[in-house]
Amino acid sequence: MIEENVRSLLGELEAGNCYGEKVTLVAATKTRTADEINRALAAGISDIGENKVQEFRDKFDAVQGGNRHFIGHLQTNKVKYLIGKTYLYHSVDRDELAAEIAKRSARQGVVSDILIQINIGCEESKGGYPLEEGLCVFETLRKTQGLRVRGFMAMLPLSDDEAYLEKLCRKMRALYDTAKAQDNDIRYLSMGMSGDWRLCLEHGSNMIRLGTAIFGERNYSV
Ligand SMILES: *Cc1c(COP(=O)(O)O)cnc(C)c1O
Repeated sequence: MIEENVRSLLGELEAGNCYGEKVTLVAATKTRTADEINRALAAGISDIGENKVQEFRDKFDAVQGGNRHFIGHLQTNKVKYLIGKTYLYHSVDRDELAAEIAKRSARQGVVSDILIQINIGCEESKGGYPLEEGLCVFETLRKTQGLRVRGFMAMLPLSDDEAYLEKLCRKMRALYDTAKAQDNDIRYLSMGMSGDWRLCLEHGSNMIRLGTAIFGERNYSV
């Protein structure tokens, strides 16, 4: 099941996104066991992303290999557990968090790769900077010691209105393109989950985060 899903997804992703760019598939591993994650890695997954610091730490040693991303909401007081262990922080959604990652990274002599999270659907339930602030935040954070901005992350709202979702994707891609034109470190537009990843890739995303499509439905009760 996991193996089959991974193989079929990786096969489909070989063609790249709408620009022919390489697409990075990050397996979203919340609630999954180390054993399930190791099966996904053995089947060809190269990158995995956790949502919770506790899970990130609990599974860290039992999981074998893979670039370890952090994709969930991150509390400032838990940053210390991730520094030096995280391949890419997707969810830098506020100034205090960026400052904390920067401070602790500089102190440990590492540079942390981050994405700036944009609240593209202007949803109260979601974190992230307003789209309009994206460039300004990028310009500040790229000059911050301890940080290297690699791009942007967004979660599309739940909606049946494809034209609306496409419009949001295009706005994210425009932000990404503007930043990329100024900075060679910009590489990733992380946008797309199990329900909307094809649409996102058709409109310029080059990094997707899939949980259900790889591992099946989540069961939060166990
Ligand atoms: C859970 C999660 C995903 C993956 O969700 P699926 O719908 O299961 O693919 C992607 N991104 C984030 C930030 C998540 O928390």
